[in-house]
Amino acid sequence: MSALVMFDDSDAPVLGVPEKERHRYRKQRCPDEEETAATVVCPCCRVVITLEEPKYDGMRVFCHPCNNWLVIRKTAEGFRTEVAY
Ligand SMILES: [Zn+2]
Repeated sequence: MSALVMFDDSDAPVLGVPEKERHRYRKQRCPDEEETAATVVCPCCRVVITLEEPKYDGMRVFCHPCNNWLVIRKTAEGFRTEVAY
């Protein structure tokens, strides 16, 4: 088993997520993993959240592991995820 495989815990359950929401959360597979139209990476805890609908400007997403509301902003470069305080 290589060191890379040993440290890949992206399939491990993410702590702090209610059972019924758990399938929507996973750890990043690599530190620079890109977001897709259906996923956001939490800027706080770096967890990857699968969305129930395609992202849009102003969309709010609750991150269970760190208890933060995230807001999705559309920019010229694409979508950006911010923490909404
Ligand atoms: Zn988070």
